[in-house]
Amino acid sequence: MSTDLKNSKPIVIVGGGVAGLSAALALGLKGFSVQLFEQADQIGAIGYGVQMGPNVVPMLRALGIEKDVVGASYLPSEIDLLDAYTAQTLTHLPLKSALYMERYQGLPYLAIHRVDLHEVLLKACAKLPHVNLNQSTTVVDYAQDRDGVVAISAEGKEFRASALIAADGLRSKLRGKLHPCDVPKESGYVAHRCLVPMSELPEPLRARAGVSMWTGRGFHVIYYPLRHSSVLNIVLVVKLPSGVQEVSDRAYADYIEGIKSQVVPQAQLAMGYMDLKRRWAIADREPVRGWSDKRVTLLGDSAHATLQSFAQGACMAIEDSVVLAHLMHNSLGDIESVFKEFEKKRFLRTARVQLQSRSLWEDFHCEAHMASVRTARFTEQSSEDFFRCLDWLWTPIALT
Ligand SMILES: Cc1cc2nc3c(=O)[nH]c(=O)nc-3n(C[C@H](O)[C@H](O)[C@H](O)COP(=O)(O)OP(=O)(O)OC[C@H]3O[C@@H](n4cnc5c(N)ncnc54)[C@H](O)[C@@H]3O)c2cc1C
Repeated sequence: MSTDLKNSKPIVIVGGGVAGLSAALALGLKGFSVQLFEQADQIGAIGYGVQMGPNVVPMLRALGIEKDVVGASYLPSEIDLLDAYTAQTLTHLPLKSALYMERYQGLPYLAIHRVDLHEVLLKACAKLPHVNLNQSTTVVDYAQDRDGVVAISAEGKEFRASALIAADGLRSKLRGKLHPCDVPKESGYVAHRCLVPMSELPEPLRARAGVSMWTGRGFHVIYYPLRHSSVLNIVLVVKLPSGVQEVSDRAYADYIEGIKSQVVPQAQLAMGYMDLKRRWAIADREPVRGWSDKRVTLLGDSAHATLQSFAQGACMAIEDSVVLAHLMHNSLGDIESVFKEFEKKRFLRTARVQLQSRSLWEDFHCEAHMASVRTARFTEQSSEDFFRCLDWLWTPIALT
């Protein structure tokens, strides 16, 4: 156990997203003292859903929150990928079948409201007296000397630490210190999200159990229930056509109407709930080695932001946290080596998620001959074939 690190100054974590909070919890549970700084005036989450594969469940167990997270989750019985124009099933993944259960040790596939996940993490952190969560503090820089690292806030305040974990997300400022030329790679797609009470939905949208994803040329719409099936989480992802950049553009609404007019009624109905005024630009990062600079490391999206194709960005952040805390706990106090080891353990897996997500993104949104080839490829594969393709990702990682 690293008594040196535990007895010295706290570990500073920048960012109170899933990555920052799970790192705070993982380190707190191992006896480290933690100071987390979040720029927003509240540590919270955007109120929509997040799916989590079975690989995350043992990580939640290690964090002591498995029961609470699973209890707050919807457990879908299947994931269906469907052609938005024909309703043909391209992929069917039965998530409660014997096939799935045997393969993934009976671990459930989860869908949870982000606010509920944050709530569980916050409550667990609150039980640890040496984990301190601070809001309204933007960390803009750091400096290092022989004794440690200093996090510097936008107001010029300095916080001394034995190590700094930058969990400041996709658009991380601190990543820019390590890789000044590296910027997020914009996908050209945007996401619209909404939650609709189940009681207000028409029968066709209530009928499907599980995760339904309708895919078409330059868009997909995905939906699944949350909170004991009381609400439906709907996400529409569309490619922005050139010349249509502003949400207020009439042309944008026409463009969405154009897509809607071509798809089957279920996909059409789901798209109809979208607020086109609110949207999030979708971007990822190029896999880059060099996550650490002496006593500073990146973690979560700041290290390896990915497109959402596998629904694994948050899962990777939670895995990162558990792995890093495990390494720090077992280290002899040399934090620079621990951070290097952390990257060594995590780089290949996270880079694979990033790169395969890009390729799957193409499969989801392609058109013409590519779409026909995609459909032929996908439909000739059985559920078992798909599970085999997911084994590298969904099989929980070993911590030793
Ligand atoms: C549409 C969409 C759907 C997704 N669906 C899924 C899914 O189903 N499953 C899944 O696993 N993943 C999913 N993801 C990915 C997932 O949301 C992210 O990978 C995950 O939230 C990353 O967490 P993070 O804590 O690293 O970053 P963030 O959630 O971005 O958190 C970073 C935090 O740092 C704070 N911050 C930033 N800069 C500073 C600073 N300088 N000082 C202090 N604080 C700062 C921010 O305010 C924020 O709170 C999805 C993403 C999108 C966009």
